[in-house]
Formats: sequence, structure tokens, C-alpha cells
Amino acid sequence: MKRKKISVIGAGNVGATTALRLAGMGSFDVAMVDVIEGMPQGRALDLLQAGAVTLSDSFIQGSNTYDVTADSDIVVIPAGLPRLPGMTRDDLLAKNAAIMAEAVTGVMEHSRDPILIVVANPLDAMCHVAARTSGLPLPRVIGMAGILDSARFRTFIALELGVSVRNVDALVLGGHGDTMVPLPRLSTVAGVPITELLPADRIEALVERTRNGGTEIVSLMKTGGAYYAPSAAIVEMIRAIVQDERNILPCSAYLKGQYGIEDVYVGVPVVLGGAGIERVVELDLTPEELEALHRSAAAVRTLRDKLS
Ligand code: NAD
Repeated sequence: MKRKKISVIGAGNVGATTALRLAGMGSFDVAMVDVIEGMPQGRALDLLQAGAVTLSDSFIQGSNTYDVTADSDIVVIPAGLPRLPGMTRDDLLAKNAAIMAEAVTGVMEHSRDPILIVVANPLDAMCHVAARTSGLPLPRVIGMAGILDSARFRTFIALELGVSVRNVDALVLGGHGDTMVPLPRLSTVAGVPITELLPADRIEALVERTRNGGTEIVSLMKTGGAYYAPSAAIVEMIRAIVQDERNILPCSAYLKGQYGIEDVYVGVPVVLGGAGIERVVELDLTPEELEALHRSAAAVRTLRDKLS
């Protein structure tokens, strides 16, 4: 059986860490592209040589041109500028939109029907750029954010209660930004909603920390943003797709009326499988939760409209 080929456009912190995780899984061909001369080639060699120690025979290539991405099954796109302290994700809009359009054009010249996992920020607006530029069916253009935001919420809940993060399920919907919608009512510890385990003011503090989860790390690091948890979230999506797991994961998906929202990419639970987004899962939200999701979708729409 032909190995799956995964390409990563932008071999910076998120891209290189994603490639490292994929290389460690030992069963993929991985291609990395970046504009910095020699950098993706160097990283690819370094990863290949790591495989000689860890006994992984993933084939890794790096290049400054897109020919190495030929016939990709999945393309991950974190190419773009990261946030610096004081910047919001939305500050990156115009520059990262141009980079996204260039990356997707390069990818589509060499692959016929890849699945695109969009990562660069502002995430949901970048999904629109990727969808429009690629012309791919919309279930094949998917944004990574909800798994990361939910992982942050799960981490903070586990720390607060002093329990294993494995016992914690949590859900964050909406756009990947200040309007994201953590859902305490649907977040549980060993099946018990956190609304029954924690007072309202502590839950609100955890929700706020989740909303600021990326900013907290940018402020600490000062030269860029998070990449260990983001790359773990990307690999979770890749696994669901290549193994056709039909896993329910929160991802940025193009909505066509689900949750009463039309024509915009926003974070919702989806069934993720071999064809990309198999379907959007519609949860029974309270009026307040639904209103927060609509506000978040409206914020994404405003950003997207700035682009066109
Ligand atoms: P980084 O600066 O470490 O890496 C970005 C890489 O993109 C750099 O190596 C740069 O040379 C490359 N690049 C720039 N223009 C390019 C082009 N035209 N073609 C190919 N490569 C190009 O940044 P990072 O920390 O890896 O973050 C990358 C992006 O991902 C940022 O926009 C960041 O905000 C975003 N991000 C999103 C999430 C999420 O949850 N969706 C999480 C983390 C980071």
C-alpha cells in the first residue's frame, strides 16, 4: 500500500514540530516547504537522521519550491507570521492572507485533491482564503483550532481540580479568537459536568484563561506563540483522516445553515474521516450558548469581508 504523503507549508515552529511528530509515527512521507533558503532542507535532513536513531523510516524532504509536495494526501498550512506580544490574531490578517493564497496556489499546482488543514491565523478567515484559492470541495478545507482551545480548557480544569486530564472532556466552539465559546455545561470530569463541581466564579476564571490561552503563552515567550499543543492537535486531525476514524473533533468548518449559521467558517464539532469533514454535529445548545456562537460567527464574517 502506498504510504500517505503529508506536506507542511511553513517549516517554522508549528510546521517543524508537526513534521517531527509525523516522522516519529514512521509511516508517512513528509514534505516541508518554506521561503527561508536552506531551512526546510536542513530541517528535513536533521529529521531523517533522527529517524536513524529512533528507527523511524519516514521519508522527509524539504524545499523552497512546491514540487516536493506532489501528490499530497494532506497539506498542513501554518505558513505565515506568528503573533508577537501586544498583537491580536486579527492583526495578522492581510499579510497572512497573501501568504495563504500563495501557499495554496503552490500546493494545487502539484496535488489534485488534497485535504487542507489550515493553521495560520486569523484561523477562520484563513480557511476562507484557502477554500477560495483551492476551489476544493469545502469538506476538504478544514481549520485547526477547536482541538487546541478545548485542550487548553481541559488542562485548566484538570489543574483546578487536581485530577488527570484524561478524565476531563471539554468543548470550545466558535472562531479562534476573543469570541471563542467555551461550553462549561458540556464539559465534564468523569462524566460529571463541571457546573456541578466548581463554583460559577471559578468556572468563569477558567473560561477566561482559555480564551486568553494563546495570548498567555505569547506574552511569556515574547518571540512567538505556542507550538507543542498546536502540533499535537494537527496530528490528531491527520490521524482521524488517514485512518478514517470518523472521530468527533471540534474544527473550523464551513457552515451551510447548521446552528442557524450560513456561509462562514467557524469552530463546531465535526465527524472527521477519510474524506475530511463527513458531517457537522449539531448539539442542542441553550439560547445563550447559541447567541455566543452567532456573535463569534459574526466576528469571523467581519474579518472575512475585510479581505474581499
Ligand atoms: P513561525 O514564524 O515559527 O513559522 C512560520 C513559517 O512560515 C516561517 O518559517 C516562515 O518563513 C514561513 N513562511 C512565511 N511566508 C511563507 C510563504 N510565503 N511560504 C512558505 N512559508 C512561509 O510561526 P509559527 O509559530 O509556526 O506559527 C505559524 C502560524 O500558525 C502563525 O500564523 C500562528 O499565529 C499560527 N498558529 C495557529 C494556531 C491555531 O490554533 N490555529 C496555533 C499556533 C499557531
